[in-house]
Amino acid sequence: MFASIKSKKSTWAAVEIPECPVCLETMSAPILQCSTGHSLCHNCTNKLYPPTCPICRQPMSQMRNWQLEEMILKAKVPCPNKLAGCVYTMMSMNIEDHIKECIFRTMECPLSVFRRCSWNGALKEMMNHFKERHPTNCNVSSDTEVELDKIDIHEDNRIVYLITQGKLHFILTFKVDTLQKMAYWAIQVIGGKNIALQHVFEIHVTSKKDDRRKVVFIEHCFNDSIKPDEVFRQNKCAVLPLQALDHYILNKKLSFRFFIKRAPLTSKHNKDKHDTTNDNKSSKAERSDSRSRQSGPTANRGPRASSGPRAPRKCNKPSTTR
Ligand SMILES: [Zn+2]
Ligand SMILES: [Zn+2]
Ligand SMILES: [Zn+2]
Ligand SMILES: [Zn+2]
Repeated sequence: MFASIKSKKSTWAAVEIPECPVCLETMSAPILQCSTGHSLCHNCTNKLYPPTCPICRQPMSQMRNWQLEEMILKAKVPCPNKLAGCVYTMMSMNIEDHIKECIFRTMECPLSVFRRCSWNGALKEMMNHFKERHPTNCNVSSDTEVELDKIDIHEDNRIVYLITQGKLHFILTFKVDTLQKMAYWAIQVIGGKNIALQHVFEIHVTSKKDDRRKVVFIEHCFNDSIKPDEVFRQNKCAVLPLQALDHYILNKKLSFRFFIKRAPLTSKHNKDKHDTTNDNKSSKAERSDSRSRQSGPTANRGPRASSGPRAPRKCNKPSTTR
């Protein structure tokens, strides 16, 4: 009977998690059994006094029901946000990871870091909330000039924008950190890791003092399950020492452009092998300080490289006058 158990693993995936016969809640490990073999959920077992089985009155044992525990780990469960619209099902052991990035979860306002907004709601409502309550934090888009005011390398600062591009929402965070003596930009997608893996962002900073000076960063998008400050701490974002940033600021004004591009992972990225073409190109392109790359450094990545705004990049001679 047990000889075939390995081959049956896959059928467990379709099984629903069994309920505890006492409280009718779904079972979770550790699952203990009575001496007759009834399995009770963890909570019910803990509450038993004296420790006898409520079904057959035989004493409870310390025997775990390992098969049932494993089956529960592998059973497919619907997302807890199913009623909100999520159709995702997953093994119950993966549920916590999914909840962090489920786009149907209720989310805090990204501006809650400033402790000025306590909004909590669904992603599809978030842009409306921004338009209503934070209109100056959602009025930017790819390839338009973002001008920041009151930027001083001696003062901590943090600016957050919500960006919609296609069907996706992104959070752009800019931070001046006087303790680390660094300025950071990160763009994170609201959604799953896989979507994040398929996007890169660019930050183009042109000096307000001398428009021949420009620095360009290309970095990966993370998703929003990781805090921006953690991205900054790991330096996996656009980073500029404050001493250098100072050359780009004039009268406390700093401007930059950003681009969010699709850059799907190739098999090379997954295997982490250098067996295909484009890797060198993109790493060389990172953090170069040149004007020659305004045609878009990732534009060469291949035919599928971008579905984002790829119109031929205009030179940086926009209507910057304000
Ligand atoms: Zn129970
Ligand atoms: Zn029993
Ligand atoms: Zn979900
Ligand atoms: Zn808010």
